[in-house]
Amino acid sequence: MVTRKKVAVIGGGVAGLAAAKAFDEKGHRVIGFERSHDFGGVWELSRSYPGVQTQSPKDLYRFTDLPMPDEYPQWPKGPQVHAYLHAYADKHKLGRLYQLNTDVAGMERRADGKPGWTLTLESAGRTRKEDFDFVAICTGQFSYKNIVSHPGKDEFIAQGGRVMHSSEYTDPEIARDKHVVVLGGSKSSTDIAVNAAENGAKQVTMVYRKNVWRLPYFIGGINFKRLLYMRAQEMQFNSWGRSPLKKAVATITKPLVWANFRGLETMLKMQLGLKKWNMVPETPIEKEASCSLPLVTPGFFENLETGRIKLVQGSYDHYDGDAVVLTNGDRVKCDVSVLAVGWKLGVPVLPEEYREKLIEDDGQYRVYRLSVNPDLPDMGFVGFNSSFCTVLAAEMIANWLVRYADGQLAHQPSEAEMSENIEMMLNWRRKERPAAQVYGGLCSAPFHFKHFDELLADMGARKTKRSNPLAEQFSYPDADAYGRFLASTPQYLAG
Ligand SMILES: Cc1cc2nc3c(=O)[nH]c(=O)nc-3n(C[C@H](O)[C@H](O)[C@H](O)COP(=O)(O)OP(=O)(O)OC[C@H]3O[C@@H](n4cnc5c(N)ncnc54)[C@H](O)[C@@H]3O)c2cc1C
Repeated sequence: MVTRKKVAVIGGGVAGLAAAKAFDEKGHRVIGFERSHDFGGVWELSRSYPGVQTQSPKDLYRFTDLPMPDEYPQWPKGPQVHAYLHAYADKHKLGRLYQLNTDVAGMERRADGKPGWTLTLESAGRTRKEDFDFVAICTGQFSYKNIVSHPGKDEFIAQGGRVMHSSEYTDPEIARDKHVVVLGGSKSSTDIAVNAAENGAKQVTMVYRKNVWRLPYFIGGINFKRLLYMRAQEMQFNSWGRSPLKKAVATITKPLVWANFRGLETMLKMQLGLKKWNMVPETPIEKEASCSLPLVTPGFFENLETGRIKLVQGSYDHYDGDAVVLTNGDRVKCDVSVLAVGWKLGVPVLPEEYREKLIEDDGQYRVYRLSVNPDLPDMGFVGFNSSFCTVLAAEMIANWLVRYADGQLAHQPSEAEMSENIEMMLNWRRKERPAAQVYGGLCSAPFHFKHFDELLADMGARKTKRSNPLAEQFSYPDADAYGRFLASTPQYLAG
């Protein structure tokens, strides 16, 4: 008999909703805490920049039991994703479980000696404490802004300039009639550069350090989901835990794999005109593929062509009067400086002594299956297995975590097994696949199938593959199929 637990879910984004549903469904008493006034996390309307849309096609950005509406475009806009997440919360009546406008300010082990944690909760100016048997941390990778500052900023602002983090660029009017400089080369920086250029900015300059591979939504006319999300493609990357046989096969097929990726690179160079813009990355694409691989913002290359967006490789050195002086010595007139420098990874809600057990000195996370750490009992992470199909990944790990918490995994790992696996994964990331170190190693892409296979095996799923072997090998992870796989795991109810 599984004992009913009182479970805290911290965060009301994609991952929080997935966790609240999974624990609630198993009969636990769930209380969710979201510090914002609304669900949605990065998709909450006041946090999203204008024009934002998913990178994943809509059938790869959905929960198993709720397709995105037919009328949605292939890549839904931010408000559509937000409405979809609300529809999911409504479908499973998750709203009743949540306390919005409630910040989890800290957590400590329970003083009464029972397993679990005491959370410090702040809401409407009041602080209180509450005990929980288990905590699911679903705070995402985009909750704490990365703040950078450059000399001369105060004087720049004093003379009328504006400096903002990319998440504060929420209104295109910010750019109208202005010289806009965007620092960073990620997807958010190209999104904002295009938005500013198309909303009346006098000039947009994008300053970025390093060329990275960017994928267009259609490669050679084919939706990228049909090319890059397949088992057949995934097998070509050097994943963890390969058997000697698989390594031998990889050695034999290396020239074919090499040719495949050079072909892809040639196609990208030609289609996007990367040489013309001096944007050809130095690293081979197969070495770079991970969660940080951005898609091309529609209109980006077109705006380079018209000259409305200018590119400079380098960084900011300092502000000087009404300009930014760059590391290459260029002086760029600037009214609005948008710092698209990303987010700080972290779990500030955890006490320092536990954070030390969780995060290595080089920033790599020690997490088994990207969710739990044997030195951090009675808690786990959902959504820390980010990917190119994060919604499905969050649902998969949420289902895994509730079974782990209940001791109901078909293969419940021992502490020693988890520690050994964590060391193996750290070693793989550091020595064999440095790209997997992005976001502290918290990225399951491009190994979606392998990650999901492991989770399903742990859960004891009877079905783990589609009946059509061709579809299984050459098609993207199918949310409906994963719904059936999850349904084939042993079911139980806490009580
Ligand atoms: C612009 C943009 C586009 C993206 N597009 C895609 C895409 O196409 N495909 C894809 O797979 N991924 C995409 N992502 C990644 C995206 O982060 C994930 O898909 C997903 O939304 C993450 O959900 P999450 O719940 O893990 O985190 P979040 O959405 O960040 O939610 C975390 C929540 O926790 C809350 N919180 C944090 N700390 C506390 C606290 N102490 N107390 C209470 N509440 C707290 C926050 O307020 C937030 O609501 C995109 C991200 C961005 C920013």
